Amino acid sequence: MSRPIRATIDLSALRNNFGVARRHAGPARLWAVVKANAYGHGLTRAVAALADLAEAPDGFALIELERAIDLRENGLRLPILLLEGFYRADELPLLIRHRLIPVVHRLDQVRMLLDAGWPADLPVYLKLNTGMNRLGFNVAGLAVARQALAGKVANLVLMTHFADADGPRGVDWQLARFAAMTAGMTDARSLANSAALLHHPHAIGDWARPGIMLYGGSPFADQTADQLGLQPVMTLQSEIIAVQELAPGESIGYGCTFTADRPMRVGVVACGYADGYPRHAPTGTPVLVDDQKTRTLGRVSMDKLCVDLTGLKVGAGGTATIGTRVTLWGRGLPADAVAAAAGTISYELFCALASRVPVTEKR
Ligand SMILES: *Cc1c(COP(=O)(O)O)cnc(C)c1O
Repeated sequence: MSRPIRATIDLSALRNNFGVARRHAGPARLWAVVKANAYGHGLTRAVAALADLAEAPDGFALIELERAIDLRENGLRLPILLLEGFYRADELPLLIRHRLIPVVHRLDQVRMLLDAGWPADLPVYLKLNTGMNRLGFNVAGLAVARQALAGKVANLVLMTHFADADGPRGVDWQLARFAAMTAGMTDARSLANSAALLHHPHAIGDWARPGIMLYGGSPFADQTADQLGLQPVMTLQSEIIAVQELAPGESIGYGCTFTADRPMRVGVVACGYADGYPRHAPTGTPVLVDDQKTRTLGRVSMDKLCVDLTGLKVGAGGTATIGTRVTLWGRGLPADAVAAAAGTISYELFCALASRVPVTEKR
């Protein structure tokens, strides 16, 4: 192996986290959300690791039609939900052939379904806009959609998505709108994302849709993944490839944004924004050098970043040097902490893992 960067995907952690989702879901069924290449973890491996659990997900939910078809061609028989539905009528023969369940959110999609000869035994999700104001029917649109599909689709599921399940507004304002819009309807409900599943047990519905928690990310700023019983699935590691001794007044990296005010020892790590490390991570972003916590220094560049080794004791009283292992996030350093320092969320770090980073699986 040449460049020392690698991502390790811990499939037993993924299974553990799915078990946490199961325990929170109680009798509700679970779509394991695997959009965006299973949040950067690798769609095929994530689905394979979950699908052969004794208590496997009840289905897999994603966005990308081509990837859903890949799953079918790899032999997956469980239900598949297309979270953003379809975009044009010419996709519908593929949905029908591969038995992919669409989320429908516009009336013209309802007409396309009927024109395509939608099979009555293939469910359709109807998405309601309860305040997210991205996708979904209003109350009048829902009535027209249900009328048009009545008797033509045996299994309609009413769905909405929470805007602030992880935040101060919570879910009750949206639940109230949802209840008003669906009064008297007996169809199944699909409501909760990870945050609602973990913190709002009254807002789960019949089918929950956890994503980030499966990968060991916490949806909450004030609660760590560890506190939620979640284990990191992706660990991104590299090595120190050069060491610089900085004299006071010397700066480091592009823009000279960090200047040493005393003699400093700096490690240069083979990981940059072209590997998926956030360029916006400022000086002080946490990083592990041989399991010792330290901080980044200066700007992240395309292929490299710098870490503070000054006074750092690693191993048996030794010093970090070329070849010393560096953990960017994962086991020992939650991606949530790195993301918070960089002004983003772990979702974005995971999804941005670059294809040039070799991946190994841990079973
Ligand atoms: C991505 C997504 C989810 C999963 O959300 P998490 O916050 O990752 O749990 C659930 N529902 C829909 C519609 C989504 O797009």
